[in-house]
Amino acid sequence: NNDRECPLDKEELGKNTWSFLHTMAAYYPDEPSEKQKCQMKSFFRNFAMFYPCHICAEHFQEDIKLIPPEVSNADDLSKWLCFMHNRVNLRLGKEEFDCSRVRERWKDGWKDGSCD
Ligand code: FAD
Repeated sequence: NNDRECPLDKEELGKNTWSFLHTMAAYYPDEPSEKQKCQMKSFFRNFAMFYPCHICAEHFQEDIKLIPPEVSNADDLSKWLCFMHNRVNLRLGKEEFDCSRVRERWKDGWKDGSCD
């Protein structure tokens, strides 16, 4: 039965997770408190430990050790996450995303009004 909802495969899980992560970064404060900065850093450390795709999780753990989250404001966090996602895109042979447009993609909608 094609109408049945099924467990996620690696691709669906990835797409859904990136949607959440980029949206969360877009709505992170412009002026976070020291506590919020710490919490966001630990969020990504912990996220990387439990992401339910083993190979993805291992890669991501290594990547954030190499390039730790930039938690000073929403803009920096969004750019950092875009960069991290592009590393995965590169590894998978997917197209690179233009990080100057993350805010349009995940918060404001495209400048041409196509999301209005
Ligand atoms: P996705 O890559 O899921 O992207 C979804 C949407 O995000 C795109 O349509 C685009 O609009 C937007 N987007 C694309 N790039 C960016 C960017 N750089 N910044 C902002 N927005 C962007 N799969 C593996 O096979 N091996 C792995 O090691 C692996 N590691 C992963 C690690 C993490 C943390 C996550 C969340 C996923 C990982 N995945 C991995 C899954 C993989 O990244 C994709 O999610 C999956 O292949 C589906 O790809 P997609 O083409 O639907 O688009």
